[in-house]
Amino acid sequence: MELKETKLTPLLVANWKMQLTVAESRQRLSELQKSLPAKQKNIEIVICPSFMALPSLAASLSGTPIRLGAQDVAWDERGAYTGEVSPLDLVDLGLGHVIIGHSERRHLLGETETMVARKMISAYSHGLMPILCVGESADDRAAARHEDVVRHQLETALRSVPPPGRGRHMAIAYEPVWAIGTGQPADPALAAAMGATIRQILINQYGPVQAERSFRLLYGGSVDDTNITKYVHSEGFQGALVGSASLNPSIFAKMITNVARSTSQKSKST
Ligand code: PEP
Repeated sequence: MELKETKLTPLLVANWKMQLTVAESRQRLSELQKSLPAKQKNIEIVICPSFMALPSLAASLSGTPIRLGAQDVAWDERGAYTGEVSPLDLVDLGLGHVIIGHSERRHLLGETETMVARKMISAYSHGLMPILCVGESADDRAAARHEDVVRHQLETALRSVPPPGRGRHMAIAYEPVWAIGTGQPADPALAAAMGATIRQILINQYGPVQAERSFRLLYGGSVDDTNITKYVHSEGFQGALVGSASLNPSIFAKMITNVARSTSQKSKST
C-alpha cells in the first residue's frame, strides 16, 4: 500500500517543564527565533513552557510558525480543582497542543491511567492535539514487561477518545523513563523496535491508512543535536519530545535544522 503522500511533517516538541521563569522563557524564545531561518520548512515546532509563561509567549509567537503547547490540561472545563488549568483557557490563548501523561506526572505526581484517559478526552474535545507520553521504567525493561506496559498505557489512554481522522491528529511520544534527563538515550534500534510495536497497535485499532495519517510517533529521552537524526528519519520516528536540550536555543535550533534538512533531502530523493 502506497502511503508516502499521506506522511505528516516531522514534529519537534520542546518541554521546558518548570526549568525557566517567565522572563527567562521570553529570553530563550527570542534567542531561538534569532537562530532559526525566517521560513522554517518541512518541520512543525511546538514549545511547551510553564503555564505562567504561556500568555506572554503566545503574544510574541502570534504570526510566526512556532506553535505553543501546554504541559498538561484538566479533564473538566471548570469546577473545584485547586491548581488545575482548564482546557478553555488553553484554547482561549490559541494553543494547539498539549502534553498528556508525561512520566514525571505519572511517577512524581501520581497521575493514574484513568486520569490520563480523561485528559485525552478533554484535549480532543477542545480541539487540542494530544502529545501522549508512554514508556516503561528501568524495572519494567529488566523484567521484560516493557511491551505490555506500553501497550496498556496506550490502549487505556485511547480507549475513550473518538477515532482519529477528519483532520484530528495525535502524537504518541515513546519515552523510556530510564532515558529521560539521564544523558543516556535509548539505543536507536531498541527505540525503533518499540516504535514498530506502537505503530502496530495503532494499525490494529484504526487500520493502516488512519494509523499513518493521524498519528505521529515521537521519541523522547536524552535526545540532542548529535543524535536526533538517529531517531527522526524517514523510516523511524516522525519527531521528538525534547527536554534538557530544548532549553539551549542554539542546540534546539540545530536539532530543528538537522531534522528539516534530512526531511527535505529525503523528499528530493523520492
Ligand atoms: C522529557 O522530559 O520528555 C525528555 C525527553 O527530557 P530529556 O530530553 O531531558 O531526556
